[in-house]
Amino acid sequence: MIVHDLHSHSTASDGLLSPTGLVERAAAMGVGVLALTDHDEVSGLAEARETARRFGIRLIGGVEVSVTWGGATVHVVGLDIDAADPALAAGLARNRGGRGERARRMADELARLGIVGALEGAYAHAGNRALIGRTHFARFLVERGVVKDVKTVFKKYLVKGKPGYVHHEWAGLAEAVSWIRGAGGVAVLAHPGRYTMGKEKMRLLLAEFRAAGGQGIEVVTGSHTPDQVPLFADLAVEFGLSASAGSDFHAPGEGGRELGRLMPLPERCRPIWEHWA
Ligand code: AMP
Ligand code: MN
Ligand code: MN
Ligand code: MN
Repeated sequence: MIVHDLHSHSTASDGLLSPTGLVERAAAMGVGVLALTDHDEVSGLAEARETARRFGIRLIGGVEVSVTWGGATVHVVGLDIDAADPALAAGLARNRGGRGERARRMADELARLGIVGALEGAYAHAGNRALIGRTHFARFLVERGVVKDVKTVFKKYLVKGKPGYVHHEWAGLAEAVSWIRGAGGVAVLAHPGRYTMGKEKMRLLLAEFRAAGGQGIEVVTGSHTPDQVPLFADLAVEFGLSASAGSDFHAPGEGGRELGRLMPLPERCRPIWEHWA
């Protein structure tokens, strides 16, 4: 059994390990097929691919595209993409372009609460300034002693209805899927269990995603509890979507799932890796 981990982050977005460090750790954890899926960014893929070659593991070129759908933020992972595809590159650049202004507004919100210096503080944690995001603010808030850990930040700050949250318009669902498909990739709806939308809206999302050309859904992810896995396996079967599995690893010891430490896909699921096997 080859261990597939098809969702992970490096310093090219909000991970703490370099692409090389990430691939080395994946190899040490027994991962046989790893996808690097940085947020709106593919600049880590060349280094990751070179390291994967040295360590004898397979690297799937990926990306995690930020999407606004029905007023909510959802993430679409693209797997086995051609990172040089011009339309994909332009779309990702557009998503990245909004991050600086959003960061300034987030810092302004935090300053209103008396938390000063958040912009510089967050950038100090960003390995790639173009990818400034909420995780970098979260690490700053922990460093400043405002909150005890990153997980708690996302309960008390930076999420809808809490201080420091700023609404942002990302790519549309259909355009994100089209960029991924146009670059020869497979489009996968990331961590569906994280979205707070109700059941009916989730079904609407899956129907639209499928109609737009979406091919897969993360059934096993570091974000799902064991009882969410069969629920999303059922939805995958019902909507004719393949199932993916990924840790969404960001950093050692930050509370997320370790690389490669994933439940097997339920038998009734069609594994997403059949698309490139
Ligand atoms: P952004 O793309 O800047 O909106 O940041 C999104 C990132 O914030 C996600 O990819 C996670 O790394 C992090 N994040 C969001 N919600 C949570 C959460 N509940 N717990 C931990 N990290 C989270
Ligand atoms: Mn992230
Ligand atoms: Mn995500
Ligand atoms: Mn992710």
